[in-house]
Amino acid sequence: MLAAIHRLPILTAMRLPDFYDVRAAAGRVAGHAHRTPVMRSTTADTRHGVQFFFKCENFQRMGAFKFRGAYNAVASLTPAQRDNGVIAFSSGNHAQAIALAARLLDTRATLLMPSDAPAAKLEATRGYGAAIVTYDRFREDRQALTQRLADEHGLELIPPYDHPAVIAGQGTAALELFEETGPLDALFVCLGGGGLLAGSLLAAATLAPDCAVYGVEPQAGDDGRQSLRAGRIVTIPVPRTIADGAMTTHLGQLTFPIIQQHVRDIVTVTDAQLVGAMRFFAERMKMVVEPTGCLAAAAAFEHAPRWHGKRVGVLVSGGNVDLAAFARALSEDPPAN
Ligand SMILES: *Cc1c(COP(=O)(O)O)cnc(C)c1O
Repeated sequence: MLAAIHRLPILTAMRLPDFYDVRAAAGRVAGHAHRTPVMRSTTADTRHGVQFFFKCENFQRMGAFKFRGAYNAVASLTPAQRDNGVIAFSSGNHAQAIALAARLLDTRATLLMPSDAPAAKLEATRGYGAAIVTYDRFREDRQALTQRLADEHGLELIPPYDHPAVIAGQGTAALELFEETGPLDALFVCLGGGGLLAGSLLAAATLAPDCAVYGVEPQAGDDGRQSLRAGRIVTIPVPRTIADGAMTTHLGQLTFPIIQQHVRDIVTVTDAQLVGAMRFFAERMKMVVEPTGCLAAAAAFEHAPRWHGKRVGVLVSGGNVDLAAFARALSEDPPAN
Protein backbone atom coordinates (compact mmCIF):
# COMPACT_ATOMS: atom_id res chain seq x y z
CA MET A 1 0.00 0.00 0.00
CA LEU A 2 2.72 2.41 1.01
CA ALA A 3 4.67 1.53 -2.10
CA ALA A 4 1.66 2.28 -4.28
CA ILE A 5 1.16 5.68 -2.69
CA HIS A 6 4.86 6.39 -3.05
CA ARG A 7 4.74 5.54 -6.76
CA LEU A 8 2.02 7.99 -7.77
CA PRO A 9 3.92 11.29 -7.60
CA ILE A 10 6.82 9.68 -9.44
CA LEU A 11 4.59 8.69 -12.32
CA THR A 12 2.97 12.10 -12.59
CA ALA A 13 6.37 13.81 -12.43
CA MET A 14 7.51 11.64 -15.33
CA ARG A 15 5.34 13.11 -18.08
CA LEU A 16 6.82 12.97 -21.56
CA PRO A 17 8.73 16.13 -22.49
CA ASP A 18 7.77 17.97 -25.68
CA PHE A 19 9.19 20.64 -28.01
CA TYR A 20 8.27 23.44 -25.60
CA ASP A 21 10.46 21.79 -22.95
CA VAL A 22 13.37 21.76 -25.41
CA ARG A 23 12.82 25.44 -26.16
CA ALA A 24 12.62 26.27 -22.45
CA ALA A 25 15.80 24.26 -21.90
CA ALA A 26 17.53 26.30 -24.62
CA GLY A 27 16.69 29.42 -22.62
CA ARG A 28 18.15 27.89 -19.45
CA VAL A 29 21.41 26.67 -20.96
CA ALA A 30 21.99 29.83 -23.03
CA GLY A 31 25.15 31.55 -21.81
CA HIS A 32 26.13 28.49 -19.74
CA ALA A 33 26.53 25.71 -22.32
CA HIS A 34 28.72 26.50 -25.32
CA ARG A 35 26.90 27.06 -28.58
CA THR A 36 29.10 24.51 -30.35
CA PRO A 37 30.22 25.00 -33.95
CA VAL A 38 28.60 23.33 -36.95
CA MET A 39 31.57 22.23 -39.04
CA ARG A 40 31.80 21.31 -42.71
CA SER A 41 34.29 19.07 -44.51
CA THR A 42 34.90 19.32 -48.23
CA THR A 43 36.71 15.99 -48.05
CA ALA A 44 33.70 14.23 -46.54
CA ASP A 45 31.27 15.92 -48.95
CA THR A 46 33.35 15.03 -52.01
CA ARG A 47 34.08 11.50 -50.86
CA HIS A 48 30.43 10.66 -50.12
CA GLY A 49 28.49 12.97 -52.48
CA VAL A 50 26.51 14.49 -49.59
CA GLN A 51 26.48 17.91 -47.87
CA PHE A 52 27.37 17.11 -44.26
CA PHE A 53 26.79 19.38 -41.26
CA PHE A 54 28.66 18.21 -38.16
CA LYS A 55 27.30 19.54 -34.84
CA CYS A 56 30.43 19.32 -32.71
CA GLU A 57 29.51 18.54 -29.11
CA ASN A 58 33.05 17.30 -28.56
CA PHE A 59 33.66 21.04 -28.02
CA GLN A 60 30.92 21.29 -25.38
CA ARG A 61 31.84 22.05 -21.76
CA MET A 62 33.31 18.95 -20.07
CA GLY A 63 33.61 17.48 -23.55
CA ALA A 64 30.16 16.12 -24.37
CA PHE A 65 26.50 17.09 -24.92
CA LYS A 66 25.68 15.62 -21.47
CA PHE A 67 26.33 19.05 -19.95
CA ARG A 68 23.15 20.33 -21.60
CA GLY A 69 20.80 17.83 -19.96
CA ALA A 70 22.58 17.97 -16.61
CA TYR A 71 22.51 21.77 -16.49
CA ASN A 72 18.86 21.93 -17.51
CA ALA A 73 17.90 19.31 -14.89
CA VAL A 74 19.76 21.04 -12.04
CA ALA A 75 18.54 24.50 -13.14
CA SER A 76 14.94 23.19 -13.13
CA LEU A 77 15.02 22.18 -9.46
CA THR A 78 13.10 24.15 -6.85
CA PRO A 79 15.23 26.22 -4.42
CA ALA A 80 14.47 23.68 -1.67
CA GLN A 81 15.64 20.78 -3.85
CA ARG A 82 18.74 22.72 -4.78
CA ASP A 83 19.50 23.31 -1.11
CA ASN A 84 19.56 19.57 -0.51
CA GLY A 85 21.75 18.69 -3.50
CA VAL A 86 21.68 16.14 -6.30
CA ILE A 87 22.85 12.56 -6.76
CA ALA A 88 23.66 10.57 -9.88
CA PHE A 89 25.33 7.29 -10.81
CA SER A 90 27.70 7.15 -13.76
CA SER A 91 31.25 6.24 -14.57
CA GLY A 92 31.22 8.36 -17.70
CA ASN A 93 30.30 11.77 -19.07
CA HIS A 94 27.07 12.15 -17.06
CA ALA A 95 29.08 12.16 -13.82
CA GLN A 96 31.27 15.05 -14.93
CA ALA A 97 28.26 16.85 -16.41
CA ILE A 98 26.31 16.69 -13.13
CA ALA A 99 29.38 17.66 -11.11
CA LEU A 100 30.02 20.73 -13.26
CA ALA A 101 26.34 21.77 -13.45
CA ALA A 102 26.02 21.47 -9.67
CA ARG A 103 29.10 23.62 -9.12
CA LEU A 104 27.87 26.31 -11.52
CA LEU A 105 24.43 26.34 -9.90
CA ASP A 106 25.74 26.39 -6.32
CA THR A 107 24.44 23.02 -5.21
CA ARG A 108 26.19 19.86 -4.02
CA ALA A 109 26.55 16.78 -6.18
CA THR A 110 27.09 13.26 -4.89
CA LEU A 111 28.22 10.77 -7.51
CA LEU A 112 28.19 7.01 -7.28
CA MET A 113 31.09 5.59 -9.23
CA PRO A 114 32.44 2.05 -9.39
CA SER A 115 35.51 1.59 -7.15
CA ASP A 116 37.47 0.30 -10.16
CA ALA A 117 36.69 3.36 -12.34
CA PRO A 118 39.83 4.87 -13.92
CA ALA A 119 41.63 7.11 -11.43
CA ALA A 120 41.67 9.94 -13.98
CA LYS A 121 37.86 9.87 -14.21
CA LEU A 122 37.40 9.86 -10.45
CA GLU A 123 39.85 12.74 -10.20
CA ALA A 124 38.16 14.77 -12.95
CA THR A 125 34.78 14.40 -11.27
CA ARG A 126 36.21 15.22 -7.84
CA GLY A 127 37.96 18.18 -9.44
CA TYR A 128 34.57 19.71 -10.24
CA GLY A 129 33.86 19.63 -6.51
CA ALA A 130 31.57 16.59 -6.32
CA ALA A 131 31.50 14.09 -3.46
CA ILE A 132 32.31 10.61 -4.75
CA VAL A 133 30.82 7.47 -3.25
CA THR A 134 32.43 4.33 -4.62
CA TYR A 135 30.72 0.96 -4.82
CA ASP A 136 31.66 -2.57 -5.80
CA ARG A 137 30.13 -3.04 -9.24
CA PHE A 138 30.15 -6.82 -8.90
CA ARG A 139 28.48 -6.97 -5.49
CA GLU A 140 26.22 -3.94 -5.17
CA ASP A 141 23.16 -2.79 -7.09
CA ARG A 142 24.06 0.80 -7.92
CA GLN A 143 20.51 1.86 -8.66
CA ALA A 144 19.23 0.62 -5.29
CA LEU A 145 22.22 2.14 -3.52
CA THR A 146 21.67 5.52 -5.23
CA GLN A 147 17.98 5.48 -4.38
CA ARG A 148 18.76 4.66 -0.74
CA LEU A 149 21.25 7.54 -0.45
CA ALA A 150 18.78 9.85 -2.20
CA ASP A 151 16.01 8.92 0.24
CA GLU A 152 18.22 9.10 3.33
CA HIS A 153 19.69 12.51 2.52
CA GLY A 154 16.82 14.06 0.56
CA LEU A 155 18.93 14.28 -2.60
CA GLU A 156 17.38 14.74 -6.03
CA LEU A 157 18.27 11.81 -8.28
CA ILE A 158 19.18 12.82 -11.84
CA PRO A 159 19.51 9.76 -14.08
CA PRO A 160 21.64 9.91 -17.26
CA TYR A 161 18.82 9.72 -19.81
CA ASP A 162 15.37 8.78 -18.53
CA HIS A 163 14.33 12.15 -17.13
CA PRO A 164 12.18 14.87 -18.78
CA ALA A 165 14.61 17.75 -18.11
CA VAL A 166 17.60 15.67 -19.22
CA ILE A 167 15.89 14.75 -22.50
CA ALA A 168 14.80 18.36 -23.11
CA GLY A 169 18.31 19.63 -22.37
CA GLN A 170 19.94 17.17 -24.76
CA GLY A 171 17.48 18.32 -27.46
CA THR A 172 19.03 21.79 -27.45
CA ALA A 173 22.00 20.55 -29.52
CA ALA A 174 19.75 19.59 -32.45
CA LEU A 175 17.70 22.76 -31.92
CA GLU A 176 20.85 24.86 -32.37
CA LEU A 177 21.82 22.80 -35.41
CA PHE A 178 18.48 23.41 -37.16
CA GLU A 179 18.57 27.09 -36.20
CA GLU A 180 21.91 27.36 -37.96
CA THR A 181 21.36 25.15 -41.04
CA GLY A 182 17.61 25.36 -41.62
CA PRO A 183 15.80 22.14 -42.46
CA LEU A 184 17.98 19.10 -43.22
CA ASP A 185 17.04 16.03 -45.24
CA ALA A 186 18.43 13.59 -42.70
CA LEU A 187 20.00 13.66 -39.24
CA PHE A 188 22.10 10.90 -37.64
CA VAL A 189 22.27 10.72 -33.82
CA CYS A 190 24.07 8.22 -31.60
CA LEU A 191 21.93 6.09 -29.31
CA GLY A 192 22.71 4.76 -25.83
CA GLY A 193 19.81 5.15 -23.42
CA GLY A 194 18.14 7.54 -25.84
CA GLY A 195 18.28 10.94 -24.12
CA LEU A 196 20.07 12.64 -26.98
CA LEU A 197 18.01 10.91 -29.67
CA ALA A 198 14.66 11.60 -27.97
CA GLY A 199 15.56 15.27 -27.45
CA SER A 200 16.76 15.58 -31.04
CA LEU A 201 13.52 14.02 -32.29
CA LEU A 202 11.45 16.56 -30.35
CA ALA A 203 13.45 19.40 -31.89
CA ALA A 204 13.24 17.92 -35.40
CA ALA A 205 9.52 17.15 -35.24
CA THR A 206 8.77 20.86 -34.88
CA LEU A 207 11.68 22.59 -36.63
CA ALA A 208 12.27 20.15 -39.50
CA PRO A 209 9.27 17.81 -39.74
CA ASP A 210 10.42 16.34 -43.06
CA CYS A 211 13.89 15.47 -41.77
CA ALA A 212 14.51 11.71 -41.48
CA VAL A 213 16.13 11.19 -38.08
CA TYR A 214 18.13 7.99 -37.49
CA GLY A 215 19.38 6.53 -34.22
CA VAL A 216 22.77 4.82 -34.44
CA GLU A 217 23.91 2.00 -32.15
CA PRO A 218 27.00 -0.18 -31.98
CA GLN A 219 26.32 -3.48 -33.76
CA ALA A 220 27.13 -5.41 -30.58
CA GLY A 221 24.48 -3.47 -28.61
CA ASP A 222 21.43 -3.09 -30.85
CA ASP A 223 18.79 -3.19 -28.09
CA GLY A 224 17.21 -0.02 -29.48
CA ARG A 225 16.75 -1.54 -32.91
CA GLN A 226 15.37 -4.72 -31.35
CA SER A 227 12.99 -2.65 -29.21
CA LEU A 228 11.74 -0.69 -32.22
CA ARG A 229 11.04 -3.95 -34.08
CA ALA A 230 9.40 -5.63 -31.07
CA GLY A 231 7.31 -2.61 -30.06
CA ARG A 232 8.52 -2.88 -26.44
CA ILE A 233 11.73 -2.16 -24.51
CA VAL A 234 14.12 -5.07 -25.07
CA THR A 235 16.96 -5.57 -22.55
CA ILE A 236 20.27 -7.11 -23.65
CA PRO A 237 23.42 -8.14 -21.73
CA VAL A 238 26.11 -5.43 -21.43
CA PRO A 239 27.51 -5.23 -24.99
CA ARG A 240 31.22 -5.44 -25.78
CA THR A 241 32.11 -2.41 -27.90
CA ILE A 242 34.63 0.44 -27.96
CA ALA A 243 31.63 2.81 -27.85
CA ASP A 244 31.64 2.92 -24.03
CA GLY A 245 29.00 5.68 -23.91
CA ALA A 246 26.52 3.38 -25.66
CA MET A 247 26.98 0.27 -23.51
CA THR A 248 23.48 0.70 -22.13
CA THR A 249 21.36 -2.45 -21.95
CA HIS A 250 17.94 -0.90 -22.60
CA LEU A 251 16.12 2.29 -23.57
CA GLY A 252 14.17 4.32 -21.00
CA GLN A 253 10.47 4.46 -20.13
CA LEU A 254 10.41 8.06 -21.41
CA THR A 255 12.90 7.87 -24.26
CA PHE A 256 11.39 4.78 -25.89
CA PRO A 257 7.89 6.15 -26.64
CA ILE A 258 9.38 9.36 -28.10
CA ILE A 259 11.78 7.35 -30.25
CA GLN A 260 9.02 4.97 -31.28
CA GLN A 261 6.81 7.85 -32.38
CA HIS A 262 9.31 9.93 -34.34
CA VAL A 263 12.41 8.00 -35.42
CA ARG A 264 12.79 6.98 -39.09
CA ASP A 265 14.89 3.94 -38.17
CA ILE A 266 17.66 2.68 -35.93
CA VAL A 267 20.82 1.48 -37.68
CA THR A 268 24.09 -0.02 -36.42
CA VAL A 269 27.81 0.28 -37.15
CA THR A 270 30.76 -1.96 -36.30
CA ASP A 271 33.67 -1.03 -34.04
CA ALA A 272 35.89 -1.06 -37.16
CA GLN A 273 33.66 1.59 -38.74
CA LEU A 274 33.91 3.65 -35.54
CA VAL A 275 37.71 3.55 -35.73
CA GLY A 276 37.47 4.60 -39.38
CA ALA A 277 35.36 7.64 -38.46
CA MET A 278 37.66 8.46 -35.53
CA ARG A 279 40.60 8.42 -37.94
CA PHE A 280 38.70 10.64 -40.40
CA PHE A 281 37.92 13.23 -37.72
CA ALA A 282 41.53 13.29 -36.48
CA GLU A 283 43.18 13.35 -39.88
CA ARG A 284 40.82 15.57 -41.86
CA MET A 285 38.97 17.74 -39.35
CA LYS A 286 41.70 17.86 -36.68
CA MET A 287 39.26 16.79 -34.00
CA VAL A 288 39.55 14.33 -31.13
CA VAL A 289 36.25 12.44 -31.04
CA GLU A 290 35.59 9.56 -28.65
CA PRO A 291 34.43 6.22 -30.11
CA THR A 292 30.78 6.76 -29.04
CA GLY A 293 30.94 10.22 -30.61
CA CYS A 294 31.75 8.58 -33.95
CA LEU A 295 28.57 6.47 -34.16
CA ALA A 296 26.49 9.00 -36.11
CA ALA A 297 29.27 9.87 -38.56
CA ALA A 298 30.09 6.21 -39.25
CA ALA A 299 26.43 5.51 -40.10
CA ALA A 300 26.06 8.71 -42.14
CA PHE A 301 29.08 7.74 -44.26
CA GLU A 302 27.73 4.22 -44.78
CA HIS A 303 24.25 5.41 -45.74
CA ALA A 304 25.49 8.30 -47.92
CA PRO A 305 24.45 6.76 -51.26
CA ARG A 306 20.79 7.03 -50.23
CA TRP A 307 21.25 10.75 -49.51
CA HIS A 308 23.20 11.71 -52.62
CA GLY A 309 23.33 15.51 -53.07
CA LYS A 310 21.23 16.03 -49.93
CA ARG A 311 21.86 17.91 -46.69
CA VAL A 312 22.68 15.54 -43.84
CA GLY A 313 23.27 16.47 -40.18
CA VAL A 314 25.64 14.48 -37.98
CA LEU A 315 25.59 14.84 -34.21
CA VAL A 316 29.14 14.42 -32.93
CA SER A 317 28.37 13.67 -29.29
CA GLY A 318 31.66 13.90 -27.38
CA GLY A 319 35.43 13.91 -27.29
CA ASN A 320 36.43 12.38 -23.95
CA VAL A 321 38.80 9.58 -24.79
CA ASP A 322 41.90 8.26 -23.08
CA LEU A 323 44.68 9.64 -25.28
CA ALA A 324 46.79 6.48 -25.09
CA ALA A 325 43.85 4.37 -26.28
CA PHE A 326 43.09 6.97 -28.96
CA ALA A 327 46.66 6.89 -30.26
CA ARG A 328 46.70 3.08 -30.18
CA ALA A 329 43.47 2.80 -32.18
CA LEU A 330 44.70 5.26 -34.82
CA SER A 331 48.18 3.78 -35.14
CA GLU A 332 46.92 0.32 -36.02
CA ASP A 333 46.44 -0.56 -39.68
CA PRO A 334 43.11 0.69 -41.03
CA PRO A 335 40.45 -1.96 -40.40
CA ALA A 336 39.40 -4.19 -43.27
CA ASN A 337 35.73 -3.16 -43.30
C1 LIG B 1 25.93 9.43 -23.03
C2 LIG B 1 26.58 9.50 -24.35
C3 LIG B 1 25.95 8.97 -25.50
C4 LIG B 1 24.62 8.26 -25.42
O1 LIG B 1 23.60 9.16 -25.07
P1 LIG B 1 22.16 8.67 -24.61
O2 LIG B 1 21.42 9.90 -24.26
O3 LIG B 1 22.34 7.74 -23.44
O4 LIG B 1 21.56 7.92 -25.76
C5 LIG B 1 26.59 9.13 -26.71
N1 LIG B 1 27.79 9.76 -26.83
C6 LIG B 1 28.42 10.28 -25.75
C7 LIG B 1 29.72 10.96 -25.95
C8 LIG B 1 27.83 10.18 -24.47
O5 LIG B 1 28.46 10.70 -23.41
